[in-house]
Amino acid sequence: MSDDCIFCSIVAGDIPARTVHETDDVLAFLDANPLAPGHTLVIPKAHARHVGDLDDDLASDLFAAVTDLTPRVQDAVDADAANVGINDGEAAGQEVPHVHVHVIPRFEGDGGAPLHAVGG
Ligand code: C5P
Repeated sequence: MSDDCIFCSIVAGDIPARTVHETDDVLAFLDANPLAPGHTLVIPKAHARHVGDLDDDLASDLFAAVTDLTPRVQDAVDADAANVGINDGEAAGQEVPHVHVHVIPRFEGDGGAPLHAVGG
């Protein structure tokens, strides 16, 4: 736990969040400023700033939660697809310094950009 980390405060229950999935090691909750309905963040409960800081077991648990949740999030909002991604580091747009996987439902014709449009 990092004292000044907003996601650690969510894990601790000090800041409210709309939880959609929880295990001993992983938490998923709705993004407070969603880019689309159902925009979900999946995080390790233990504080880690970068994906490279995760040990293998935690990385595995995190990705297992993502693979489980992505189709369920899509179903919940009747989406056609999803962007699943991580901003890893400030220059990549990481604003909260606690690893989080964005699961962003996408809809045919929604006009959003694909991940490969970054920098394009
Ligand atoms: O990848 P990045 O660090 O930019 O994303 C941070 C995400 O955390 C944003 O989508 C923001 O809306 C979300 N957030 C949140 N609840 C907070 C603070 C940030 O859902 N209390």
